[in-house]
Amino acid sequence: TPSLEVSGLAYAYPDGTQALYGVDVTIGKGERVALLGPNGAGKTTLVLHLNGILHGGLGTVRVGGLTVDPKDRKGLREIRRRVGIVFQDPDDQLFMPTVREDVAFGPANLGVGGAELERRVETALARVGMLEVADRPPQHLSFGQRRRVAVATVLAMEPEILVLDEPSSNLDPAGRRELAEILLGLDVTMLMVTHDLPYAAELCPRSLVLSGGVIAADGPTPEVLGDE
Ligand code: ADP
Ligand code: ADP
Repeated sequence: TPSLEVSGLAYAYPDGTQALYGVDVTIGKGERVALLGPNGAGKTTLVLHLNGILHGGLGTVRVGGLTVDPKDRKGLREIRRRVGIVFQDPDDQLFMPTVREDVAFGPANLGVGGAELERRVETALARVGMLEVADRPPQHLSFGQRRRVAVATVLAMEPEILVLDEPSSNLDPAGRRELAEILLGLDVTMLMVTHDLPYAAELCPRSLVLSGGVIAADGPTPEVLGDE
């Protein structure tokens, strides 16, 4: 089963703006894919369909074989667990007194507790190299560290697909490097929305270009960027 199958997805906002016109995308398990395209292309609209935040248009979205269906509340909960979105601003994702509590929040909310919760928190923080700051308040960390903790909060949910919105934004060269190495070390399906073409080239063997609500290119990143 692929991690993600989007087929014939078309969507207009309530004001009539047609944001997507029949998008087809299949992403296999373990692939790392960049989602490129100019502002207004429909990237955010597509991402918000992956966990059912937006719905009501045409077409289907499947995550690990499970169809996103807003009428199926239990299914939607499972989809939200499977699609882990790291937002562009880590401060939208961090609100607890300590890093550890922020990382525990998602899985605890799903009913995970005890030793399993502890294992998830330790594992997620270790993956992003943030174990040693586990007991500090997130606000005391640098921006780059907060972004890595935001990634950990999502990893602790053990998602089927990790979606990252502009992961390299506002990072200095050292922070970019560190995050790239962390992301390259993760064994998870990844969809990365970015305007940072060198980052896409380094991290993602495959790229999609969304333009005017349609997939304008889909292929190996060097070819896609060569065509741009
Ligand atoms: P991107 O993420 O690639 O910048 P978006 O998905 O945000 O693109 O936007 C796609 C299109 O939908 C654009 O024309 C944008 O102006 C429009 N759009 C986005 N959000 C809304 C909204 N809430 N209401 C109406 N139109 C919207
Ligand atoms: P990005 O380019 O980072 O995806 P945008 O600037 O496209 O972000 O959109 C930022 C926010 O504004 C989103 O929540 C989007 O839904 C909303 N938005 C974008 N275009 C419109 C629009 N035409 N009408 C209403 N809301 C919009």
